[in-house]
Amino acid sequence: MNSNEKILAKKFVEEINNLAKKIDHVRLMEVCGTHTVAIFRAGIRQLLPKNIELVSGPGCPVCVTSDDYIDKAIAYSKLDDVIITTFGDMLKVPGSNSSLTEAKADGAEVEIIYSPLDSIEIAKKNSSKKIIFLAVGFETTAPTAAATVLAAKNQGVKNLFMLSSQKLVPPALKMLLNDDEVNVNGFILPGHVAVVIGSNAFKFLANDYKIPGVVTGFEPLEILRSILQLLKMITENRSEILNEYQSVVTDEGNQSAQKILNQVYEPVNANWRGIGEIDRSGLKMRDEFADFDIEKILPLKVETLTKKTACRCGEVLRGVINPTSCPLFGKNCQPIHAIGPCMVSVEGVCAAWFKYGGGRLINL
Ligand code: SF4
Repeated sequence: MNSNEKILAKKFVEEINNLAKKIDHVRLMEVCGTHTVAIFRAGIRQLLPKNIELVSGPGCPVCVTSDDYIDKAIAYSKLDDVIITTFGDMLKVPGSNSSLTEAKADGAEVEIIYSPLDSIEIAKKNSSKKIIFLAVGFETTAPTAAATVLAAKNQGVKNLFMLSSQKLVPPALKMLLNDDEVNVNGFILPGHVAVVIGSNAFKFLANDYKIPGVVTGFEPLEILRSILQLLKMITENRSEILNEYQSVVTDEGNQSAQKILNQVYEPVNANWRGIGEIDRSGLKMRDEFADFDIEKILPLKVETLTKKTACRCGEVLRGVINPTSCPLFGKNCQPIHAIGPCMVSVEGVCAAWFKYGGGRLINL
């Protein structure tokens, strides 16, 4: 942070403190793993007065991927003619009994890629094998997965398939607000997701639930300003959705990305780890793309026997408890030996809490 930014940050914090004197206790939730990490890294929680509490929601796609999906991915990886392609942070996510890391150690072919489109080249080089991409993510990454399907179709690639578990953020926010255990007074809304779906997609928060929200970027100053805007709205009894990330987010979002997404996928009820099924919160491939859906081409019956553990990811992901309330936090469960998914991903709340702990305070 340069000296001008520090002056501005100090001003924001002073204004936040002044507004905090007018209210009781408020809880503001971020629902994006990148925001979670940015907040912890900058120590923003520690800059705020005690009655302004920041809590993390289900913003890490790896963390909300269900154990039955991981079990399925492992089952497919064990077939002789299969190569799994995936982002690196999926490897350590525990299924009900094992992980892709263990499957790889046992001989499964699992390749880490950086874009779903990389899977097309792998498919072309391995024409005798089935390449299965683990399509996990939110609206941010789903259009690229959809574009990969369309590109594979156009290029006549017939050995590339998707195992889909894409999720949608707005239905998860609705679920949180309908949950009596969850108490949130405002949302720091995910900038990356909003680039695709637009800030208007969050208007239901203000219209239907009277909860304000601010779409914002990922710099500490942007996050502080969003907190200030939320507090202004709360103290003035206003509920609106503000777009403070106008450099990249429009009201309507990226129409081309939405078109591709809707061409390939349709909404479906989806299972969120630790939370359960949420209506129309996932994406499944439309019937016309069934040739790319591994569950249609090669259905596998996989039994998931979820073990009861002391992991409290479900409550952490709903912002009901902080990771430190989990008895395993920092003891049995650490990033090098994660018990639950919230500790696996670098964007997981437990991992961020473990890594940054008290936070690195911005020196104002
Ligand atoms: S600390 Fe580990 S076991 Fe506890 S909630 Fe987080 S991921 Fe689960």
